[in-house]
Amino acid sequence: MDITAQTALELGRKIKAKELSAPEVMEAFLAKAESMEERVHSFVTLDREGAMERAKKAQKAIGAGTLQGPLAGVPVALKDNLCTEGMATTCSSRILDGFLPSYTAEAVKKLEAAGAVNMGKTNMDEFAMGSTTETSWYGVTRNPWNPDHVPGGSSGGSCAAVAAGEAPFALGSDTGGSIRQPSSFCGVTGIKPTYGTVSRYGLIAYGSSLDQIGPIAKDVADCVTALELISGHDEKDSTSIARTDTDFTGALQADVKGMRIGLPRDYFGEGLDGEVKEALMEAAAVLEKEGAVIEEFDLGLVKYAIPAYYVIASAEASSNLARFDGVKYGYRTETYEGLHNMYKKTRSEGFGEEVKRRIMLGSFVLSSGYYDAYYLKALRVKALIKQAFDRAFEKYDMILAPAAPTTAPKLGESLSDPLKMYLGDIYTISVNLAGLPGISVPAGRDGKGLPIGMQLIGDCFQEKKIIRGAYAFECATGKQWTADYQRKQTAGKEEA
Ligand code: GLN
Repeated sequence: MDITAQTALELGRKIKAKELSAPEVMEAFLAKAESMEERVHSFVTLDREGAMERAKKAQKAIGAGTLQGPLAGVPVALKDNLCTEGMATTCSSRILDGFLPSYTAEAVKKLEAAGAVNMGKTNMDEFAMGSTTETSWYGVTRNPWNPDHVPGGSSGGSCAAVAAGEAPFALGSDTGGSIRQPSSFCGVTGIKPTYGTVSRYGLIAYGSSLDQIGPIAKDVADCVTALELISGHDEKDSTSIARTDTDFTGALQADVKGMRIGLPRDYFGEGLDGEVKEALMEAAAVLEKEGAVIEEFDLGLVKYAIPAYYVIASAEASSNLARFDGVKYGYRTETYEGLHNMYKKTRSEGFGEEVKRRIMLGSFVLSSGYYDAYYLKALRVKALIKQAFDRAFEKYDMILAPAAPTTAPKLGESLSDPLKMYLGDIYTISVNLAGLPGISVPAGRDGKGLPIGMQLIGDCFQEKKIIRGAYAFECATGKQWTADYQRKQTAGKEEA
């Protein structure tokens, strides 16, 4: 049996049934990761020793009957913007080089309490700003399907690790698409929950009003199981919501009969790649055959989403990133004259180009004289976008959309033109501006063999509807696309 080709739930079951042990499973994933890293580079920190220790400890608790959850003993990879006590947490930035957090993010704690075993930290765009995982100080991550292409971003390391079979599941974060877009590019499943569902305590902030942590996995059931484990109210996060409906696994029903699904015409017109469009139309037809009612509609305001998002996200980032000054965390410049010069040199040397661009843009739109013209206006647009979705959800149970306009671009293609790269976020960012849940599931491959994802968007707190839609789609296609990347993983192993 190839342990690394199993789903997280299968592994959990086999560990519980004593067919496998947690250390044996961890060893298999570490070995796989070690053989794949040269090609993919999903990890910033692969903590072999610590991971084996933790797996042994988990196994003891499983043996003693104190750990019984569905993912007990199963390894997990964590995006490197999630604080882990005593384990390097870099946000893929030089400025956090050497930073060892004194506490662990709440979402990670919840997973650990359920018995999942942290294997290490995954690569990302610096401070989660980007769409390709190329802005990392620690080098690029490559798409496991074709190493000449990017894995997407910013949770590219987490998605590539799952797609390459280096980890059975992972956590990512999504401010404007960073779970859904790389999931789409890597042929895996990722969920961004309703804002406030998962505690942000210990997630290094990018755009605090938009950031949400979510799981990435091989299939819908794994993803939803992990989401259920990390959800819940946390008084340490003032935006955390006390929900009583986070029993998400109950929605794993392959049944969309009578569900109304809206296709925004504005998302399927100009700018959408022909092959992506074709795959999504086929996916919509599959759901229709399963009994869903599919209808096209006009969402509206789409062209305002990108400018509004980049104003708001950059404004929040410029404030959130002010704390990295060479005093409290990580990197400090070697030579300086006085405090101001130390700040200046540390930040100049510690932050990359894209992060500096956002800090400058954010500081500008918040400065007096421009605050009303840009920042306040962007907040108004945000409110209008939420209203447009409210109107759509009066008619539809969910919205079917692409996760990205194209499949994964080639390495080096995107960074040369940042504005063009920002435009690639068109189908994901509105979901964050409106605080909605969204899931990306594999829905095909293009002529070059690169994965295509289908995004399902739900109204606030309606994760269960999009879970049903995604699960029904996965079951109706005979898990064809899941099986596809499991074959790819095995092939990757043979090549390595
Ligand atoms: N690509 C978007 C950005 O650069 C989204 C990133 C994210 O969701 N973290 O801001």
